[in-house]
Order: sequence, then C-alpha cells, then structure tokens
Amino acid sequence: MLSDRELEQYSRQLMLPDFTLEYQERLRASWVLVVGCGGLGSPLAIYLAAAGVGRLILADGDTVERTNLHRQILHGEADIGRSKAASAAALIGAHYPDCRVSQFTEKLQGEALNQAVSSVNLVADGTDNYPTRFALSRACIRARKPLVSAAAARSEGQLATFDVASGGACYRCLYPQEGANTALSCRDNGVLGPVVGVLGTLQALEVIKMLTGWGDSLRSRMLMMDLRSYEQSIVSIARRPDCPDCKESV
Ligand SMILES: [Zn+2]
Repeated sequence: MLSDRELEQYSRQLMLPDFTLEYQERLRASWVLVVGCGGLGSPLAIYLAAAGVGRLILADGDTVERTNLHRQILHGEADIGRSKAASAAALIGAHYPDCRVSQFTEKLQGEALNQAVSSVNLVADGTDNYPTRFALSRACIRARKPLVSAAAARSEGQLATFDVASGGACYRCLYPQEGANTALSCRDNGVLGPVVGVLGTLQALEVIKMLTGWGDSLRSRMLMMDLRSYEQSIVSIARRPDCPDCKESV
C-alpha cells in the first residue's frame, strides 16, 4: 500500500490511465544497480529515484574532473576531486530521501560485481569502456538479470535491453568481437551535454518500463539516434546460437 504522501508525490505519473498503483508499488520494491555515475548515470539515477524506485546501488570508480561538469549534472564545482559515486549518492539522498542509496566507489569487478548484480532486479550500464560492458553483460547472464545499456558520444546515441533469461540476445550477440572498440566514448570523441542527457533520460524510461511492464521495452532491440539531425531508427538484435557468452544460458 502506498501512503498518502506517496500518492501525492507520484500523483502525476499515477494520473496516466495505464500507469497503475501496482506499477508504482513495483518501482518502490525494485532495486537497481547503476554502473557509471557520469553523463548517462546522472539523469538515469535522478529520474529513477524521482520516479519512486526503492533502492539504488551507484557504482563508479572515478573521481569528478572539471571536464565532466558540462554533462555530468549530478556533480558540481565543489565535487571536483571527489568520488563520483559518493557525490551522486549525496545528491540523490538529499533530493529523494525515500530512495535507499548505496555507493560503490571502486571499480566494480570480480566477485564484488557478481554480488552486486545478484542482489538487484535490474542493471543499467552507463559506462564508456568496452571491457566493463562485456564484464557487466556476463555477470547479468550469470545472474539472469536484465541489462539496460546506453551509450552516447559526439551527437549519437544507442539504447538497448539485453534479457537472456527471457530468451533475448546478450551484448556479445550484438558485438561478437570482444576487444573491438564498441563503446562510444565521450573522452575520445567529445559530446554535447544534452546528447548524453537525452540518452540517460531514455535509459531511465526503459528501466521504468522493464521494472513495471508499462509500454513497449527495447528487449532485443536497439534504438539508434543522431541528435544532430534528429534521425532515429530501431533495429532488432538476434540471439546468436554460437555466442560464447550466452549459448549455455537459455
Ligand atoms: Zn549472446
């Protein structure tokens, strides 16, 4: 049951004719791992906490740099030099006290990664390097958890959901060549702040869809957009029977 205060706080999304009280309760009961508290993770974490997601783990091993501030809106001038996960957790905790936030201030890998993935309902990948993306994907396959993955650089972005446990494709089905530079990186390519903001915001919407069942998700599909022209398309991602990462995990 939602309290009167919760009913008031979430009234504008509960006003949607097909967004039910049950959906709101599902959000409150949900636990999401957000990997990367940068340009994607900033709007992602803010919108998930604001929507009423009950618990977030915010993971990022980096510290805030001045070059981050034009797009990583969880962090400000006073946070330069501070852990991104700690800075993110402080802002989310102050704005949305109903959301229980824990932070992971080191690079999430190995057994700690497996434990974090196992403990949540869903993982959202907002990182910008391909070894982390493949490791996260494998941890999600192992734990049978859905992975909502976004990337952005220059004026372009991508968003997809990989859900092997429900028969969907995995990240490596999309990018079979591990080692190829598949992740768009703002550090190497540059980006306009709102471009990565749009993708992180869409990623939050996709997580809400996956947690509640509202609307149509991007499971085994990828949304691609170029915000310079506003052109966008959606492509299907087929599961590869010979995929070394997910072939054993039907
Ligand atoms: Zn696969």
